[in-house]
Amino acid sequence: MATILLIEDEESMATGLRDAFEHHGYRVMVAAEGEAGLNMADEELPDIILLDVMLPGIDGFDVCRLLRKRGVTVPILMLTARGEEVDKVVGMAIGADDYLTKPFSTRELLARVKVHLRRVTDKVPSLGKYEFGDVKVDFTKFKAYKNSEPVDLTSTEFSLLQLLITRRSEIVTREQILNTVWGYDTYPDSRTVDTHILNLRQKLEDNPRKPEYILTVHGLGYKFAG
Ligand code: CA
Repeated sequence: MATILLIEDEESMATGLRDAFEHHGYRVMVAAEGEAGLNMADEELPDIILLDVMLPGIDGFDVCRLLRKRGVTVPILMLTARGEEVDKVVGMAIGADDYLTKPFSTRELLARVKVHLRRVTDKVPSLGKYEFGDVKVDFTKFKAYKNSEPVDLTSTEFSLLQLLITRRSEIVTREQILNTVWGYDTYPDSRTVDTHILNLRQKLEDNPRKPEYILTVHGLGYKFAG
């Protein structure tokens, strides 16, 4: 049974979602503000975190940033208000895996949660360990190092990197990446892929502006060289 941590201050929303998820067999923890959410993430080790952006005290972006800083790698799905396009970009840059704009249907949220959990639990055959340049990645333990220093990659970044490495020297299109990493039943736009690629480069490349490993093939997609 997967545990969901829901960080949401709106009581009716929190109660509605908790009931719906519990009805589908999930264990749900609810935190009404960021600080409590951070503590619960430490104590309850959730499998996925649903995070509202507008929270009293620390907002959802800072909560997301702090979670990643503390080494939490589980999927984080952010719940944003309608039309907050800017939020979407900012959130991806700080390590969120996915977005849902309010108002959304519970069915849509359940579907997304399922996809993210599936991605984490039964991954494509794992690569085990892989090294390139001064980077070492252990896909079985979800650990990455650059120059022997630990690098925090999110679960989405691990999946994306794994896909690129599995198909190294081949061009992988944005659509293939979306289908493999995010799943057929979700529809993030292709900019989502680009943002995650940028994050991976920032974390793993010596010079993210002139990547040596995670290459762009203009008009087609991406290619891993290494
Ligand atoms: Ca709120």
